Order: sequence, then C-alpha cells, then structure tokens
Amino acid sequence: MLGLMQEWPLLCHKVIDHAALYHGNREVVSRSVEGPFHRTSYSEVRARALKLAQRLDRDGYGVGDRIATMAWNTWRHLESWYGILGIGAIYHTLNPRLFPDQIAWIMNDAEDRMLFVDLTFVKLAEMIAPKVPSLERIVILTDDAHMPETSLKNAVSYETYLGEADGDFTWREFDERTAAGMCYTSGTTGDPKGVVYTHRSNVLHAMAALQPDMLNLSSRDRLMPVVPLFHANGWSTAFSGPMSGCAMVMPGPGMDGASIYEILTREKVTITAAVPTVWLMLLQHMEKHGGALPDLTRVVIGGSACPRAITKAFQDDYGVDVIHAWGMTEMSPLGTLCSIKPDYSHLEGDAKLDLQTKQGHPPFTVEMKVTDDENEELPWDGKTFGRLKVRGPAVSSSYYKSRGAEQFDAENWFDTGDVAHVDPHGYMQITDRAKDVIKSGGEWISTIEIENLAVGHPDVAEAAVIGVAHPKWDERPLLVVVAKEGRSPSKQSLLDFLDGKIAKWWMPDDVLFIDEIPHTATGKIQKTTLRTTLKNYHLPTA
Ligand code: AMP
Repeated sequence: MLGLMQEWPLLCHKVIDHAALYHGNREVVSRSVEGPFHRTSYSEVRARALKLAQRLDRDGYGVGDRIATMAWNTWRHLESWYGILGIGAIYHTLNPRLFPDQIAWIMNDAEDRMLFVDLTFVKLAEMIAPKVPSLERIVILTDDAHMPETSLKNAVSYETYLGEADGDFTWREFDERTAAGMCYTSGTTGDPKGVVYTHRSNVLHAMAALQPDMLNLSSRDRLMPVVPLFHANGWSTAFSGPMSGCAMVMPGPGMDGASIYEILTREKVTITAAVPTVWLMLLQHMEKHGGALPDLTRVVIGGSACPRAITKAFQDDYGVDVIHAWGMTEMSPLGTLCSIKPDYSHLEGDAKLDLQTKQGHPPFTVEMKVTDDENEELPWDGKTFGRLKVRGPAVSSSYYKSRGAEQFDAENWFDTGDVAHVDPHGYMQITDRAKDVIKSGGEWISTIEIENLAVGHPDVAEAAVIGVAHPKWDERPLLVVVAKEGRSPSKQSLLDFLDGKIAKWWMPDDVLFIDEIPHTATGKIQKTTLRTTLKNYHLPTA
C-alpha cells in the first residue's frame, strides 16, 4: 500500500520562495565588487531572480542548459543561482584561481552557453571566452555605470539584462532529480571531474546542514559564507541560509584578514565558514591590531584539516566555538561536522582540543564506512585506519561523462580517496589522502597528524609532510616548514616539539625550511608538486 501524502518536488527555487514569504525582510548584506556595502532582502532577491529567470527564458535558455558563474559571494551571484535554477538550467561555478586554460577546458567539457562574471574577472574571461565556442553571451555582474572597456563579445551589464524583464514569471516545474548545479573537482592528477547536483540533492543536503548538530542555523543567525560559492557548492549556504531564514552577509572580494574582521564586526555575524588559511589570516590580523568578536558564536572550518592552534585561539582568546567540518565537492559537500555529543561533553582543555582535531560525525543522509584495500570493513576503534567510503542522497552517483567510474561500487559506496579512522561514538578522523599516506616498512604514517602538530610550534607558519624514498624503509617522512615572518626555528627545536606527541617511528627523518608551500586553487597543500620537486631529496638517514 502506498501512503497518502502529496508529491511536492524538492526544487531549489522553493527555498527562496519560502525565505521571501516567511523571512522576506531579512537582510542580505554584501561588500560589493565596486566597493560600497549593499543591502537587500530575501523578498528582493527573489523578485530579481524571477526577473532573471524571465529574461533567460525569453532568450531561449531552459532545462539542462549550463550557465557558468565566475564570481565572489554577493547578492547578485545569489540571485543568479536562483534565476538559473528557476528555469531548470544549471549553475556551473568556475574557480577563478585555476589557470585560464584549465577553466576553458572545464567550460568546453560542460558546454556552457552563458557566463555571469564579476568585474574582478573580466580580464580573465577575455582570455578564456575565445577558446569556448559554445559561449553565446556574457553578463557582467555590475550596472552600466561600472561597465568596463572589454573585448568580450556580446557582453551586457547584469542590471541592464535584468532591467529588460518585469518579473511577471512563474518558476518552471520539473522532476526534482533534474540537474541543478555543476562543479568540477580540483583533481591534482588527470582531468577535472564534473560533479552534477540535482534539485533534490541540494534541498536534502541543505535540510541536513541545518540540523542542530550540524550548522544549527536559525532565523536569529547572521551567516557569513566566506567560503566562495565556487568552492564545493558553497558548503550549502546558498540554500541552507535562505531555508533557515537567517540574515546573510556576503564578503564579496574582501578575503584578507582586515576585510574579514571589518565585515564580521560591523555586520554582527553570528556564524561563518571557510578554509583554515582564511582564519589564519584573520587571527594574524587580530594578533597584530587587537580586536574582539563579541557577536560571533561559531566558526565552521574545513576544506583541509583545521590545525589545533586555530581552534585554541578562537575558543580561548575570542570565545568563539570552532566546528571542524569535512566534506567533498562530490558530497554537496558536507560529510561530517565535529559538534560535541553528550558522550564527550565532559571534555575540557587539551582533551577537548584533541576531540576537535577530528572531523566529526555525519548528519542523517550520510552513511560512512572504513575498509581495507580488500573492501573488508574495519572496526570503529578510533585507531584502525583505512579507506573512507560514503553514500547518501546528496552523494554523487557518478561523475559527468562517467569519468572516475572506479570510485563507485555496485552498492553505491563512493571511495572518497581519504584515509580515516572512526571512534566508537562515530567521530571520524582523516589521517591522509590515500595518495599522500607514507608507507614506511609496510606501516602507514599519517602526514596530516604530524602537520597539525608542527603548525602548533610558535615559529611555524605552515607545514607539510611528504614521503621521501628510503633504501631500508621504502619511504620516510620529511617535514617541510615555512617559518613565520622574522623567525628562524632550528631543525632540532621542531623535532623536540614533536617528541612525545607522536610515535617514535613517525618522527620525520629531516626538516627542510622553504619560503613557500605550493597550494591548489582551493587552498590545499599541493603535495604532488612538493613530491616532484623533492624527488631526489637525500635524507640524512638514507
Ligand atoms: P574539495 O572537493 O575540493 O572540497 O576537496 C575535498 C577533500 O578535501 C577531501 O576529500 C579531503 O581530502 C579534504 N578535506 C576537506 N575537509 C577536510 C578536513 N576538515 N580535514 C582534512 N581534509 C579535509
């Protein structure tokens, strides 16, 4: 017998309808790309998204069309997403930190028909557009007064484009499994792989993200996604924000420590989210210039492992709770968050910080398991590590054009490529990327754990651990360090600092000081490059 409940397709634009109807006057504040702060509301965002949808529809765009965006977090970018979604087209976020040829490759792979681009990236778009034959039209996210001189053909300002519609439009209705968004993963090897979200997966993922043990968002919050919408689906914020009815604060192009501090305090942000490097810049700014964060209650940190020193500084110095998060583009992206369950509520001081170096536990909608190389499940004892696999309604079932098929098995388990262990209370901890793990004498050494500890050294700005060839042990760890400005720690002081905190055989065989560690376009340490440059590094123990 089937139940007797209504079919109500989970469509993304219903989220902005909800926000406009029940939280219509809630603010959406942005630092605009042109400079000044801009204030609008959910009802206004919806009204303008409807105009955009109407205009796109009139121009012949519709279900299945890929429309690219290359833009900072602003109200215009948010409106663009909803306008595109409302006609069944697909927002395709582009990461402007990639090389122009990589972006062109990705746009050609997706066959983008349109591009919405910020003023910041017009020059970049000029390099890319001639290489993308499918591109018909370019909308520059500004008004006529700020339109730049450009060689881009068929470019129009967003305000003019929108202004030619009156908003008398009804969102299109379609199957909730219709493609909604596209984002390519920042693969360090091989071609980028396209992840394709559905309306249903975005809505379910946002509902999961709202839960109290996850982001715990409510209409009383003021949420600032520093994580750009172009990084891993914006960590759900474009949907979970409006769904909760919270105010949204969009940092635009101001990503440095001073700008983040200014907007956090002046806009009384209560919750914010970004990768560790952003928070390092903020903390360094505050260390130098002073300041307080009286309104901020929690900061979500993920994308790469959150160093213990960052968590400690936020909590001890500024009274802000840190929520360590793990996820992937392929997971929409939130996989686990490290909120504190009653099982651990007694922890204080160092013991609490230890727990918070873990990536946490999943919301309903994410199943996870850890297996060995033979796909046998490993125990949840908090120490046995293996391949982390996940499945759920907001996890990819395959990549665009069926690339990377080997990562998916017949039971829908997706191999994340991460190595992790899980404790008896379901707290997962990433110990490595599978390809970064060091195999020393047949045993695995976790590079992330050593890096996390090393950045706690008072003179260290950044650290990376890689495996270097060793005649006896196959590989041994090399600790690569960037010192803080004006400091010059010794090799011995680093080894002494690690002593007693890790197993003796995990101790790096050498420490190498360099000026800069290479990063990927999403801010992760680029270990492949480090490994290539240091391929012939001679360890003193070799
Ligand atoms: P992306 O799809 O670009 O967000 O990259 C996803 C990958 O980033 C994951 O598979 C992890 O390897 C890494 N990652 C994300 N969050 C964390 C975290 N909190 N700790 C360690 N690694 C992380």
